[in-house]
Amino acid sequence: MHCITQYVRSIYQQFVQRMAILDILEYPDPRLRTKAKPIATVTDRHRQLIDDMLETMYDAPGIGLAATQVNVHEQLIVIDVSEGRDTPLVFINPGISVLDDELRAYEEGCLSVPDYQDTVKRPAHVKVQALDRNGDPFEMQPDDLLAVCIQHEMDHLNGKLFVDYLSSLKRQRLRTKIAKRQRAG
Ligand SMILES: [Zn+2]
Repeated sequence: MHCITQYVRSIYQQFVQRMAILDILEYPDPRLRTKAKPIATVTDRHRQLIDDMLETMYDAPGIGLAATQVNVHEQLIVIDVSEGRDTPLVFINPGISVLDDELRAYEEGCLSVPDYQDTVKRPAHVKVQALDRNGDPFEMQPDDLLAVCIQHEMDHLNGKLFVDYLSSLKRQRLRTKIAKRQRAG
């Protein structure tokens, strides 16, 4: 009996762990302004967080999620820009260098700013260094959407949102729209 109970419990825990959808903070929540701390050692707790964040991102659905957005203030990002939604990428303690002056404009959205998109210009060519889910370092030169997405998510870790790049008039309009929606419930 004991074994069966344990077996059932382990199946249940696997199910619960697989299905851990986390709450996403929404602008203008002040917790989105918290600066994330570097991760000294990548542990199983981080790997569980990564799995939960991926689940949350796929469920939303979105193409990137920073730990800041689920109110965990450690330097961790998950991204999947693939069409098949089958190429999850993990960046721990990411660092970035801009390779040249070229900027590219992309229409961005954010799971923390629902139902809003606007154009942001960012460096087109960057190099990124980070740790993977096992704590091993890697480096990449992402293109196009992935380059945009990494920069957008790294901003989150610094307490910055894509709407910060917009004019104050546009931000004011956005805040008015959000306030109206909150009043409407
Ligand atoms: Zn975002």
